[in-house]
Amino acid sequence: MSGASSTLLIIGAGASGMLAAISARRTARSLGVSDERLRIVLLERNPKPGNKIAISGGGHCNLTHDADVKRLLDKGFLRKNEQRFLRHAIHSFSNADLLALFGRYGLKTEAREDGRIFPVSGRAGEVLDLLRRMLEESAATIVTNARVERLECGASGFVVHAGERRFEADAVILATGGASWGSAGTTGDGNRIAAAVGHAIAQVMPALAPNYFTVPPSPELVGITLRNILLVASSEGASDSRRGDVLISHRGISGPACLSLSRSVATMHTSGKTVTISVDLFPGYEASKLSAFILEEAARHGTRQVRTFLQRCPLAPERLDAPDSSTDAPTIPNAFADETMRQAGIDKEVTMSGLSRVQRLGLVSTLKRLALGTVRKVPLDRAEVSAGGVTLGEIDPKTMQSKLHPSLYCCGELLDYAGEVGGFNLQAAFSTGWVAGSNAARSLFDKARQTAQE
Ligand SMILES: Cc1cc2nc3c(=O)[nH]c(=O)nc-3n(C[C@H](O)[C@H](O)[C@H](O)COP(=O)(O)OP(=O)(O)OC[C@H]3O[C@@H](n4cnc5c(N)ncnc54)[C@H](O)[C@@H]3O)c2cc1C
Repeated sequence: MSGASSTLLIIGAGASGMLAAISARRTARSLGVSDERLRIVLLERNPKPGNKIAISGGGHCNLTHDADVKRLLDKGFLRKNEQRFLRHAIHSFSNADLLALFGRYGLKTEAREDGRIFPVSGRAGEVLDLLRRMLEESAATIVTNARVERLECGASGFVVHAGERRFEADAVILATGGASWGSAGTTGDGNRIAAAVGHAIAQVMPALAPNYFTVPPSPELVGITLRNILLVASSEGASDSRRGDVLISHRGISGPACLSLSRSVATMHTSGKTVTISVDLFPGYEASKLSAFILEEAARHGTRQVRTFLQRCPLAPERLDAPDSSTDAPTIPNAFADETMRQAGIDKEVTMSGLSRVQRLGLVSTLKRLALGTVRKVPLDRAEVSAGGVTLGEIDPKTMQSKLHPSLYCCGELLDYAGEVGGFNLQAAFSTGWVAGSNAARSLFDKARQTAQE
């Protein structure tokens, strides 16, 4: 870059692609490379950049999470290999770095009690506006309505094909996002482009998605949120679970515990197995303790109907107090008390003292494993993120450089990781984009200097 100029092409102007452009320019300028010597071009298939940022967090943009890097990785990425892969990038450009950078452009943010960080304005559009300003200052060219189909890797650079148009580049950053929520422009193009140049692609899976059931939940249950219960997915000997809130929907379930568990559910379901979903309404208690508690209650309130007992019972309690003792803790919703009675096969009129031993044990096992439904589908088009994509083993985690093509970089959700709900996915996209951009710029600088010396 000391003599001839170079072109860095970034495919995809989402969270990771925009940060890649911004960091590439910063790095280049810090190395004394003039803007004319390094052209930075973003190719975006949509008419506007940053579609997903605009819809993120319900339009409020949960841009990152309030935690130190170790806790952010532990909380946000449940698989150890993904944590290991992302560690360097998130240390290099952390949540604090992100907030400091955006803060310099006037963004004020607030952390919620659960650690999620949002703009104070509550407007995702504010984040997009500042990214546009930063791109302008970075002298990055954005070419919209340019859907890249193919990448040719040659010895001296790349040719990128987007319909009739072709673009030449010295280095390419693939930042096309995941393969879910296709209406935002993410239909897995990056996987096909990367596969065509030799990269192995891990199977795409929905993550952070609702679950649809074979038989929709009964109308009485729809709209109810079960707070802080244990959601369990089981399939032929395998099972996985999450603690949290579950919302019963017209088609099945949603809510934080469901979203978090959905990647596991999708994996079980894709292998052709039957996956059943149940809830444990007393996750802190073993069956024997719960049984003893019901016996105590029967001794205290023998004439009370079992149904009334259930309606007054705290849901997922920390302590098993008498049902009437705590006033503000959520109780088992009435419709779920009825559903429990139905699944346990206990008549509505049965009283606590009339409960036989067999009925009590049946009631306990139903409370510990109340069936919600059998999974029909984990819809990819409703998944907030997709797992799968470019395999992590083929990307250098320190630079985001492809191990197959040294001037090719991959970043963001295109890579085979998926974070939890809470701002982790945007942070990972921002961090990996930042690292890809700065390393691409540095390596172009090194190459140009070497050429000049020869
Ligand atoms: C409804 C919804 C809400 C979400 N809310 C949050 C949230 O609050 N917090 C959070 O952390 N995460 C959230 N996410 C996830 C987060 O938005 C993504 O993980 C993140 O945007 C990924 O960044 P990325 O740059 O990898 O991909 P994207 O942001 O998806 O950007 C990829 C870009 O590449 C473009 N592209 C794709 N193919 C081509 C092609 N062939 N040629 C040219 N351009 C192409 C796309 O149009 C897109 O603009 C949400 C996702 C959804 C769907």
